[in-house]
Amino acid sequence: MAFLLIVPAFLMSQTEKTDLGMIYKIKQEGTRNSQIEELSFWMTDFVGPRLTGSTGGNRANEWAKKKMEELGFQNVRIEEARDFSRGGWDNLKTYAAMTAPYYANFACNPVAWTGSTNGLIRGEIVLLDVKAEADLEKYKGKINGKIVLMPSTSTYEVSYEPLASRYTDEQLKQLSMAAQQGGRRPPIGDMSNFIAQMALRNKISEFIKAEGAAVILNGSGAFNVPRSSGARFTAGNPEPVPEVSLPVEAHGRMERLIKHGIPVEMEIEILNKFLESPKIFNVIGEIPGTDKLLKNEVVLIGAHYDSWHGGTGAADNASGCIVMMEALRILKSLEVAPRRTIRIALWGGEEQGLNGSRGYVDRYLVDPKTREHKPDFDKFAAYFNMDNGTGTYRGIYLQENDMVRPIFEEWLKPFADMGVTTIAIRNTGGTDHQSFDAVGLPGFQFIQDEIEYDRGYHSVMDTWERLIMADLRHNAIVTASFAYNAAMRDAKLPGKPAMKTRTNVQQNQMIPMMN
Ligand SMILES: [Zn+2]
Repeated sequence: MAFLLIVPAFLMSQTEKTDLGMIYKIKQEGTRNSQIEELSFWMTDFVGPRLTGSTGGNRANEWAKKKMEELGFQNVRIEEARDFSRGGWDNLKTYAAMTAPYYANFACNPVAWTGSTNGLIRGEIVLLDVKAEADLEKYKGKINGKIVLMPSTSTYEVSYEPLASRYTDEQLKQLSMAAQQGGRRPPIGDMSNFIAQMALRNKISEFIKAEGAAVILNGSGAFNVPRSSGARFTAGNPEPVPEVSLPVEAHGRMERLIKHGIPVEMEIEILNKFLESPKIFNVIGEIPGTDKLLKNEVVLIGAHYDSWHGGTGAADNASGCIVMMEALRILKSLEVAPRRTIRIALWGGEEQGLNGSRGYVDRYLVDPKTREHKPDFDKFAAYFNMDNGTGTYRGIYLQENDMVRPIFEEWLKPFADMGVTTIAIRNTGGTDHQSFDAVGLPGFQFIQDEIEYDRGYHSVMDTWERLIMADLRHNAIVTASFAYNAAMRDAKLPGKPAMKTRTNVQQNQMIPMMN
């Protein structure tokens, strides 16, 4: 027993070695010969929006495959990840304008997986003034064939926060401290209110559908920028009532006019197409490993490639894909001979539930039915993800994996003068590294400055303009070095030790220590 205790302690006390010569080369290549700007153009303006299952999404996959081949990656493939119950959907036309009391056209965005209007439709709009289910009664028989304005769910409030910010030293220090999970989750009180709102929303949707409304308008987004979202839809069912998202300014203007007794008329035309493409795909390429014993082990870097349909999904998440592509390009152009295979994955279907990365886990790592490990599970060395927009890396989240702290401390040292210094024990969520973390494999995401997150994400403004080339260059350099280090060290990155389910008292007592 004593011997067993000594061995891991001895191993952990070994100094992590980094090849500073290689880090130098990575920095030089990523700075002098950066392809970030080129990749950014092609992956946003050229490729366009990449909604899961859409024609644009499939076209983007083809482009990425071609690009990876061009860059000299090997085993490049578009790989099936999962079935997609919603099926494909393309928006072909969207127009919405107020025609009375005066003319004003509105920036708008159709809700994905909803249907089309019967050509250009015109008419007075009906505001559903509904605060409880009982309020629906008064609209019975009155909205058939009508343009229906949903009640507003939010009012615009002036924000005194900057649109973009860099973490201050003080904020980074806070972030590095073990803390209760904060994140973006609303407190419990807000949550029950949110659930009640959603339940009412569902009732209203059912009512509108049953009454045969022609089109639904909702308020979503601000600064005259509508947001993108999607309806819950299962392929094969009747097409949902066409629905359009308007920014709060347009929505609010019409709502206030109607509440003052002034009739509002609109004209709207939406043309959408439902497609037979019930699959989600990942685009994969790699630099094969060269070590006799380790070449079948995999260091994975990735980002989700799917986007919403409004903009070109630049920050969310072409930025991550651009960085990952550039990171592997840097390594490829340096003709590295990694001991382990370094693989890139551009995930599909993240926005509808981490589908691409979960599909990859199912396919290679853990049998989804039996939960048994597949042979590649033990050959999985690490996963690094990026999905927090264009902001520069400032460090990395450990995802509660304290065992990797001394390793990452060493790997971050060459980037101290680039501001990448912080190691945060806490979890960060909402994206693909969780698919690996969930099955006990080391999956990580970097800490990034928050740049225009609230305005850009999922909106029609998520375009090339949201990208900061210097930040992306920086991130590619750090990613390349992390991938290289992980591919070269003697052992895979340590995962979190397995623990029994938290049923007995002793385990419960340990929980605070883990946070
Ligand atoms: Zn994302």
